[in-house]
Amino acid sequence: MEINKINANTKMLGLIGNPVAHSLSPLLHGELSRSYQEQYAYLAFPVAQENLETAVKGAWALGAQGLNVTVPYKREVMNYLSAVEPKAELIGAVNTLVRMEAGYCGYNTDMPGLKKALKHDGICVAGANVVLIGAGGVANAALCMLLEEEAANILILNRTKEKAAKLAEHFMPHYPNAVIRVASLQEDYIALMDEISSERQWIAIQATSVGMHPQITETPIDAMEFYERITEGVDLIFNPEETRFLSLIRQSGHKGYNGLKMLLFQGIIAYELWTGHKVEEDVAEKILTVLQEELKSRA
Ligand code: NAP
Repeated sequence: MEINKINANTKMLGLIGNPVAHSLSPLLHGELSRSYQEQYAYLAFPVAQENLETAVKGAWALGAQGLNVTVPYKREVMNYLSAVEPKAELIGAVNTLVRMEAGYCGYNTDMPGLKKALKHDGICVAGANVVLIGAGGVANAALCMLLEEEAANILILNRTKEKAAKLAEHFMPHYPNAVIRVASLQEDYIALMDEISSERQWIAIQATSVGMHPQITETPIDAMEFYERITEGVDLIFNPEETRFLSLIRQSGHKGYNGLKMLLFQGIIAYELWTGHKVEEDVAEKILTVLQEELKSRA
């Protein structure tokens, strides 16, 4: 049998969202199924909001093994599933649907994907001071990961302080020993950082959309006093490869990483859920290179 040539045994995987045209997921999953010589075809489906339920139920009826879900449906899709994994329920977002007997079970692989990406980059948040910038969809997964990993102090900075407070309040009852503070990007958060920790050593996770292509000269934080306190930083954006946020971290002499590895590992974890087998490190490395090359060719 010729591998990856579509035939009657090919199983369907896919992505639903809107828009999906620039997604790297079809490339990522195509590479994965090629690496393991498995008969999957992964397609990107732009789905209009009024068709979301039909799309999920239709995919199941057609026998699709699994789907990824991207913006703007990560929360809404939960209404159309037969089960939701408890951590995804807590995060309030599902990005992976796994086929079950009577429908799909929803998972969140962004959270463990970020955890694996940090590990890959040698960043250890356990017992550390971590500043999380942003309080939107992906910040939920990032905060859950920080709580699971038991960061010592978490400071959420967001343009809209109320959203940061709401995010913290949502998780606090589930992690009663955690220390979470919130501030707006307009107030003196540097004084607050120094009040929380006199060591002036923080890991930063940038989870806003500021600085994403094509707004590549923007950053949520300009003050160099902030970057001087950052020992390591991750920007969850991966296009451009180096955001202004990352370049400011590097200018202050520290290490910064982009969000491509989070994308890679959330995809790998989804693939492992769909196929039931483990993706080895060398395969992950090979696919990371393919994704990096693809982004370079788009720049
Ligand atoms: P979202 O739910 O729309 O949240 C956007 C966040 O950005 C909010 O915190 C928002 O603040 C903030 N923001 C937007 N414009 C701003 C501005 N002009 N100044 C300051 N803050 C601003 O988006 P999301 O789904 O969380 O995604 C955020 C980013 O993460 C995106 O760039 C996306 O590419 C990236 N991401 C990466 C991965 C990965 O695998 N690497 C996965 C998911 C997302 P307010 O609350 O004040 O509006």
